[in-house]
Amino acid sequence: MAWDFSTDPEFQEKLDWVDNFCKNEVEPFGLIFPYAVRSRHPKIKALVKGLQDQVKAQGLWAIFLDEELGGPGFGQLKLGLLNEIIGRYPTAPQMFGSAAPDTGNMEMLAAFGTEEQKERWLKPMLNQQLWSAYSMTEPHGGSDPRLFKTRAVRDGDEWVINGEKWFTSAGRVADLLFVMCTNGMFVVPRETPGVEFMPEPRAHNHIKYTNVRVPLDHLLGPEGDARTLAQRRLGGGRIHHAMRTIARCKLAFDMMCERALSRESHGQIISEHQMVQEKIADSYAAIRMLRLFVLETAWKIDNSSTSETRTDIAGVKFTMAKVLREVSFNALHIHGSLGTTDLTPLQAMYAAAPTMGIADGVDEVHKVTVARNVLKSYEPHEGLWPREYIPAKREQARAKFEPLFEKDPELREVAEGFERMRRGRAAAARAR
Ligand SMILES: Cc1cc2nc3c(=O)[nH]c(=O)nc-3n(C[C@H](O)[C@H](O)[C@H](O)COP(=O)(O)OP(=O)(O)OC[C@H]3O[C@@H](n4cnc5c(N)ncnc54)[C@H](O)[C@@H]3O)c2cc1C
Repeated sequence: MAWDFSTDPEFQEKLDWVDNFCKNEVEPFGLIFPYAVRSRHPKIKALVKGLQDQVKAQGLWAIFLDEELGGPGFGQLKLGLLNEIIGRYPTAPQMFGSAAPDTGNMEMLAAFGTEEQKERWLKPMLNQQLWSAYSMTEPHGGSDPRLFKTRAVRDGDEWVINGEKWFTSAGRVADLLFVMCTNGMFVVPRETPGVEFMPEPRAHNHIKYTNVRVPLDHLLGPEGDARTLAQRRLGGGRIHHAMRTIARCKLAFDMMCERALSRESHGQIISEHQMVQEKIADSYAAIRMLRLFVLETAWKIDNSSTSETRTDIAGVKFTMAKVLREVSFNALHIHGSLGTTDLTPLQAMYAAAPTMGIADGVDEVHKVTVARNVLKSYEPHEGLWPREYIPAKREQARAKFEPLFEKDPELREVAEGFERMRRGRAAAARAR
């Protein structure tokens, strides 16, 4: 019997270390020096390095990568347990060398890059000497990749890329842009002539690629197969977001409970009002369900593959958005006016909740994936009635018992008594 929800004591020690480190080092540092990881100031760099060295000494650097790809190889389940701590602190993923969008790009490089590409890009990315962004969505269509137009054309010993991308997160501050073209995934250094940033949006950039020339070895993976690379990238990214979302939900929940016990209204501590209790109970159950779903999906990936687990990853993707919306709303609401300000993390968390239903694919598309895949294991019933139509099942049951009744008439009488009782009850119910 292998159902076991406990954590190895050895790994629990790691989790406790991460918890203390994030609480006592990462969070205070992030409050005084936000975005410090990318700072070029020598004093800030030294402070960041000091913290990151501690992470490396614990073997917790780039925790998302498998061993053969250059990481510690924890697998998804352990990664889930780590991420549900790290995700509570916005600056922590970068301190652990595992922040999006770099993680997904590193995964693609690790899985599909040549040795030379890994040496040139993956190693410096792992050491945060190079930063990257991912250019897939286009202004005229995001959910349906068949609408994408950006294309690379081979010209001698170069590829020439033309197209337009939208919502490339952190593109403006990236060294490398991973550009999904209709005929392959390309690595484009940001400074390449022809890469033009539109003034808006500021954080998630609109980029025009006009006659952008890159050498032939900037094609990543096979020509014509950008979607396989994208799936690899996005599949991992979605489950990692979900793991960190558990942490955000727990933070909102902790705040909700603390506040409910601390305020008074209409002669009671507000936690004694039943509608407040309902919010606490619903949030508690929603987080437990999300956590089990995420960890079970992580376990399935460890025991099969990302592609074999895609139905559950899609399910997790829209469920996390829903749970974050519900729990952050409840927490914000219980904080009253304070919840609506930016003096706690709640307002930003609630504002970010709809984003979770869009980034990495909109909810509807993931729901379609789940429904389509789930339906593959079902068949329509024959005739008018569903398989669970009770009168038909009773008929079949009677036929099954008939040989026994023939041998034992007394048993038939008992069965008929049961049948009379059932009909009598049904008639009485109808008469009421
Ligand atoms: C915070 C954030 C960060 C992002 N970062 C990146 C990034 O780094 N790189 C990148 O390339 N992209 C990025 N994106 C873009 C993201 O991938 C797209 O927003 C997403 O794929 C949806 O595309 P769209 O915005 O064009 O919406 P659309 O495709 O226009 O969809 C709009 C709405 O139409 C409806 N809809 C669409 N398709 C269906 C369907 N099949 N069935 C039913 N309804 C449907 C849904 O209601 C949907 O919300 C990011 C997005 C966000 C919010």
